[in-house]
Formats: sequence, C-alpha cells, structure tokens
Amino acid sequence: MTEVEQLRKENRELQKENQALLKKISSFEEKLEAALVWNEQLRKAMFGRKSEKLRVLQTGDEELSLFDEAEQEARAGEPEPVSCGTAVKAHTRKPKRNRDELLKSLPHKDDVRELPEGERFCERHPGTPLVEMGRKFLRTEVRYTPPKVEVFDVYQKVYQCPACKEEDRFGVKSAPVPPSLLPHSVATPALAADVLCQKYVLAVPFYRQERAWARLGFPLSRTNMANWAIALSKYYFLPLVGHMKERLIASAVLHADETTVQVHRESPERSRRKQQQSYMWLYATSPLDPESPDIRIFEYRPGRSGENAAKFLEGFHGTLVHDQFSGYNRLDAEHAACWAHMRREFVKGLSADPRQGGEAVLRNPENRRGKAWEAIKKIGAISAMEGKLKNLSPEERKEERLRQEKPLVEDFFVWLESIRAEISPKFQTAKAVNYALHAKERLCRYLGDGRIPMTNNVAESAIRPFTVGRKNWLFSDSPKGAEASAAIYSLVETCKASSIDPEKYLRYVLTEMPGRNFMNDPEMLEGWMPWSKAVQDNCKA
Ligand SMILES: [Zn+2]
Repeated sequence: MTEVEQLRKENRELQKENQALLKKISSFEEKLEAALVWNEQLRKAMFGRKSEKLRVLQTGDEELSLFDEAEQEARAGEPEPVSCGTAVKAHTRKPKRNRDELLKSLPHKDDVRELPEGERFCERHPGTPLVEMGRKFLRTEVRYTPPKVEVFDVYQKVYQCPACKEEDRFGVKSAPVPPSLLPHSVATPALAADVLCQKYVLAVPFYRQERAWARLGFPLSRTNMANWAIALSKYYFLPLVGHMKERLIASAVLHADETTVQVHRESPERSRRKQQQSYMWLYATSPLDPESPDIRIFEYRPGRSGENAAKFLEGFHGTLVHDQFSGYNRLDAEHAACWAHMRREFVKGLSADPRQGGEAVLRNPENRRGKAWEAIKKIGAISAMEGKLKNLSPEERKEERLRQEKPLVEDFFVWLESIRAEISPKFQTAKAVNYALHAKERLCRYLGDGRIPMTNNVAESAIRPFTVGRKNWLFSDSPKGAEASAAIYSLVETCKASSIDPEKYLRYVLTEMPGRNFMNDPEMLEGWMPWSKAVQDNCKA
C-alpha cells in the first residue's frame, strides 16, 4: 500500500468516525430535548394551578396536552409544521407528504452557521486548534423578504479538539445558532408577522392568502397558517397579553364592552357547518389616565355571562365605564355610565319611523323638535365643554368639569325630572328619560375624577371591527383558534393605540422572544410591551 493509499484509507476511516460522532450528538440532543419537554410538563403540572400569575399566562389544562399533541403530530411527519390539534384534526387528512416534498418547487439555499474563528480552541488544551468535523443539518426555514420567498437549510458547523480525541474525550464545539421560531416548523419571524398582519390588520382570510402564497410557489395551507397563529399565541402572544393584563388590572379606570362573534371555519365551502354563538369582550384603559399605558385586551368567551367580566377583572377595584349591561354589576368596582349611550336613547326617540335609525335622523330638520331634541341639545352643550378639556391634567380637568359642566349636568337632571310626568311612557323618549334618571349616579361619576371619560367610546371603537366587519373577521374553526385570534387582536389594537406598526411589532417580538426565559420575568415582558422604549424605538408606525 502506497503512502497515498494509506492516507486515503485513514481519511475514509476518519470521515466515518466523524459521521458516527455527529449522529451520536444528534441522538444526545434529541434525548436532551425530550427531557426538557418532560421537565417543563412536570413543572407545569406541579405549579401550573397554584399561582395566580401562572394561571394568567397559561390558559388551562388543554395547554399541556396541546403541547404534547404539537410534538407528536409534528414527529408523525405531518406536512409542515406545528400541527396543533384542533385545526388539523377537523381537516380531512391528505396523504402524508414530507416537508421536502412540499418545498421542492422552491430552490433551497444553505445557511451554514460558523463557529467564530476566535472560539475554535479547546478550554482543556490551550493552543490546540480545533479540527472541523463537518456540518450538522438542523432545520429548514422559509424566509420572506417581500416579494421573495426563500427556503434555507440551516446547518451548524461542528469542531473537535484533536488532543481531547487523543485522550478519548468528546471535546466537541458547535457554532451558535439562533433558536427556531416554532419547533418543527419552517416559520420565520417576518413570514409569520406578514401572515398574521394580512389577516388581523388587513382582514385577508387565510384561504385567500393560501392562493397568494401558492402563486409564489410556496404551498402554505390555511391549516398551516391557523396552526401558526395558535402555536405562536401559545408560546409568545398569550404571555405578552398576560403581562398586558396585569398592567390593565392595576389601572384606576377601565372600559368594557362586548359583542357577538361566530366561531366557525374560515373556508367558504365549510361555512354551513354549525355555528356557535359566542362573545368577544373588550377591555381598555382610559385615554385620560396618564399613569396607564393604552391597552386593549380582547377576550373570547362562549356566552354573554356577566361572570366572564367578573372573572377577567378579578383584582380590579377602580372605576369601570360600560354600557350598563347588568352582568358588570357583579364586579367589586365603581361604575360609570356612558353619555353617548344615553344620548343614543334620545336619538331613537326623534323619529317614530324605526327605519330612520341612528344618527341619520338628525340630518332631517323635521326631526329636530320635541323633548328628545331638547335633551340632545343639552347633552351636546355639555360634551362640547368636555371636548375643550382634552389636553388638561386629570386634576385640572376635574376642576374645570366642576366649574363649567357640573351646573349644566345638574340642570339637565332637574329638567328630566320635570318632564318625566309629561311624556306618555309608551314613547321612546320616556324610555330615554327613565334610562338617564336611573343611571344618574353613574352618569355623574366622571365629574368626581378627571381620569374617567364621559363616554365609553374607546371601548366601542376598538370593538367595532367585530361589530361591523364580522364576516371579514372570521375565526379559525375552534375555540382555541378564537383564543389565539383574541390574543393577536389585543396586540394589534394595543400597537395601534400606542402608534406602533403592528407588523414591525410582531416581527420584533418574534425575533426577540424565542429561546428567552420570559415566563416568570415581568421585567423582560415589560420590555416587549408596545409602550416600552425598545419597542417605541424600533417599531414606530
Ligand atoms: Zn481539548
């Protein structure tokens, strides 16, 4: 055997050895990952229920099994990603295809993560340079830089110390790699942020996005997108919203409103499936309270029970502005009524014709008469004054309200008392008068605190998308999907209220959060709030 042959043989043996070692590493890592998952589940099972804070962050026992399911489904070789239960189960299973096949129409690029040159040394053997063993395949990612979709195979370079090897030690060092966004998924931050903003900001349903992605050669199914929304909520958005909620509950003044939503499949061909009547609740902080950031939290709940609000607002002891739905009366809080709501009762009294609904009746001069019109004018005078106090501090505002508005408010209620007997109770105007007198104490609450708005407009305008464009805002077919949607709407609307671009924000947090241990770290979570300095600096609209 010549020297060259000898060397070749040795080289082949070394390569074989390297491959065996790389395999071993993979198997260790898999075992470690499994152990970490198991450990996390044990931790949740042991502590999940005991602490109030944890209960806010995790939404219940399903979380555990959902996590499990996500793992199992993905390992079972379901095409693409994060198959998180419900959405996938309801879907008729297609013949199994693997991820490679799904993405084969797109060219793959290599993203090889290198160990920095300065770190290619051994701690045990200073001065011994590490020898390259090869690269280890980690995952496939789909990255989106509009209008380009690219597939990257991520590899990690692995090095070994020859001196360690001599001593029969492992001595292996790998290049640092950022954690993946979701386990067993090709999703990346910009891609996920785009998908979510198309749906939750621009109201483009997943089934329409599916076609658009297909045109780019990327076979991303509606089920994949729904699964992403659910999984991203579970890992990232629910913890963020949980932290937002803590800040919300600590506020002095809150708004609440609720509206119906229908939970059903997004795809039109399935819209005839049984629909479930449920409620979306909206909680918001007061725009007049400088101490509190602008927060909007949506909560999805089946049924319009007042218990939902009571449960959500547990621990809140400030003033709640709402539409006088009796369910809110269970709360241990002060109540404030909305003047816009009360005024609407009088507007309804302007025309006997029920078809002339809403503010439209005011445009017809013929309707501008009678007691209802007089009431509307009086209310208008008070809110015009209030409008001028917008930029004052709460203390100054309170002072000016007492000086300017209180006398008019008192006159208004004295006048209502005086006309009460004159109007036949069968007229709408009588109902409006009774509504106002009945809610008098709550309507006057705002006079005593400059942080309480006169109306519930903040809540009503935040929840309007659900009321107006209900058809465009369809949820994925499960309560789990509706919960995820509520979390995403909460972030999107809170961003808008804080002048933050929702897409930049989602991209930012989805880049920052993976791999960080934020679950019990309120300070870290606070740093990702739309009002935080870092977010304000990076994600301005
Ligand atoms: Zn060494």
